[in-house]
Amino acid sequence: KLYNQVQDLKGNIRVYCRVRPFLTGQASRFSTVDHIDEGNITIITPSKYGKEGRKSFSFNKVFGPLATQEEVFADTQPLIRSVLDGYNVCIFAYGQTGSGKTYTMIKGKEVIHYDISVQMLEIYNEQNGINVPEASLVTVSSPSDVLNLMNTGLRNRAVSATAMNDRSSRSHSCLTVHVQGRELTSGAVIRGSMHLVDLAGSERVDKSEVTGDRLKEAQHINKSLSALGDVIASLAQKNSHVPYRNSKLTQLLQDSLGGQAKTLMFVHMSPETDALGETISTLKFAERVA
Ligand code: ADP
Ligand code: MG
Repeated sequence: KLYNQVQDLKGNIRVYCRVRPFLTGQASRFSTVDHIDEGNITIITPSKYGKEGRKSFSFNKVFGPLATQEEVFADTQPLIRSVLDGYNVCIFAYGQTGSGKTYTMIKGKEVIHYDISVQMLEIYNEQNGINVPEASLVTVSSPSDVLNLMNTGLRNRAVSATAMNDRSSRSHSCLTVHVQGRELTSGAVIRGSMHLVDLAGSERVDKSEVTGDRLKEAQHINKSLSALGDVIASLAQKNSHVPYRNSKLTQLLQDSLGGQAKTLMFVHMSPETDALGETISTLKFAERVA
């Protein structure tokens, strides 16, 4: 209810930022995060990124490194519930490889108690694929079915060794949950859907470092992420023309982006100083869609 009121005021797009903590085993290091305060995050920029030394970005909400999965989950509950009211919902995880996208998307909690069926799709090099064999659309009866399917799909994702991370995700993975409910008195059928989209790593690939297939992957990823940014930005600005057709990803999600549909974008950042360049471009991406 509260969520819907907020939505009415702000439109149907929300953007959250999440900063992952330093990982165990990492020597304690300086963080690029100066401070976090509700919806604002201030990062420390060395002089080459601007003379101020500090730069602030605003979001609907910022989750710092200490935020738990439960807190993040609690915040998305009303959105997830609205699927049961027949809304189409898209939740995206954006950010460079290693920044916590997959971690956020696998919240692994009981979500839905309706008739649900699930589909897991992968978009690799602008082509669709179904990465759960023999399972284009699976009827599930428990949350653990959903998790098993997600895990199978994740294992089968296209990954390749890059300079950034040896299991860098080079594809977008989209888990769709279809929900159908029947109102017992009127018999009315309510249909909603939720897409959980774990995007390919957003890092810019140094073109001198990669060739062949890796370069082609990088170009497809850049193209589809910027097409997604264009679509969300034009929805946020309530433009009459929304450029859905510029990528497979936005075509696939067209019915679930815009109109009555609700979109939540989680933008992830790594705290390390050597990630600062990517962190800034991630936050700029977010600024454009917010
Ligand atoms: P991505 O999907 O963006 O490449 P991952 O979700 O795989 O990144 O996260 C990279 C690593 O950081 C994983 O080992 C993950 O468990 C860990 N991690 C990410 N976010 C958090 C967090 N908020 N708290 C603790 N560990 C995290
Ligand atoms: Mg991942």
